[in-house]
Amino acid sequence: VKKKAGKFEKQAKAVKQTAVLGAGIMGGGIAYQSASKGTPILMKDIKEEAVELGLKESRKLFAKQVERKKLTTEQMAEKLTLIRPTLSYGDFGHVDLVVEAVVENPKVKGAVLSEVEGLVSEDTILTSNTSTISITRLAQNLKRPENFCGMHFFNPVHRMPLVEVIRGEKTGDAAVAATVAYARAMGKTPIVVNDCPGFLVNRVLFPYFGGFSLLVEQGADFQRVDKVMEKFGWPMGPAYLLDVVGMDTAVHANEVMAEGFPDRMARDGKTAIQVMYENERLGQKNDKGFYAYE
Ligand code: NAD
Repeated sequence: VKKKAGKFEKQAKAVKQTAVLGAGIMGGGIAYQSASKGTPILMKDIKEEAVELGLKESRKLFAKQVERKKLTTEQMAEKLTLIRPTLSYGDFGHVDLVVEAVVENPKVKGAVLSEVEGLVSEDTILTSNTSTISITRLAQNLKRPENFCGMHFFNPVHRMPLVEVIRGEKTGDAAVAATVAYARAMGKTPIVVNDCPGFLVNRVLFPYFGGFSLLVEQGADFQRVDKVMEKFGWPMGPAYLLDVVGMDTAVHANEVMAEGFPDRMARDGKTAIQVMYENERLGQKNDKGFYAYE
């Protein structure tokens, strides 16, 4: 599945102005990382409060850099101006690359991607930060599928080095090249992977979440499981990781995986993760998940 990213970079078109759709956990993180490394980014959401929260999180992260003397307050102010929060598509005509990071729902993503494709210029690269939905599937209603690929960041964006660049059936080399180059400019390590539900990382991670859920359903104490997995050497256990990911995103992503791999990923009855979701225990995003947060 894995291919070297390097060979595409020579063909890369310059990515000078970018945009992210969605200012949530991921969209906000992508905006921060882009600005932090000097590429201007429009951050668009449909909710004012989401855009405000996205900006607040970025401000917090930059402030930490100032505290650690890695940035001056002037540099922080300058970097913050690179993030342009918006509720409209006003300036999208001048964007070189768009990262779609709205909710993990194929219909919503399809509609948002078609909408933005009609507004950007013909050579703008469109990418999706989807966790699991096949890029070929998301490209189905696009007029220029050759300009579209996956750009899958991990959470928290500013700390996780990997970015999966996913090549759909119709993705062209120029789209892969520009996306790889932008990922590198953001200080990340891109890998180019072929398309399938879950790509590479989540094909490994979601069966692991499934195994954890089953243990809990059979009576295991989630805190003990977390402690054991930490001793095993993982930086955090599955319950804590699910709180970071968000139970809503995990449930929606798992549905896509179950549809793609019914023999391995589909389950009868509700999983512990679904029960958490239905009880609005979403994780860190609403301060209550497996653990409680302030
Ligand atoms: P989130 O719920 O925190 O944010 C989603 C944001 O999208 C919300 O602010 C919502 O208002 C906004 N939105 C909805 N419709 C929109 C539209 N039409 N235009 C603009 N904004 C719109 O979700 P998230 O965790 O940031 O996930 C976003 C995407 O990133 C999903 O596809 C998810 O699978 C993927 N992802 C998530 C993680 C994770 O750990 N949470 C990791 C990697 C990838």
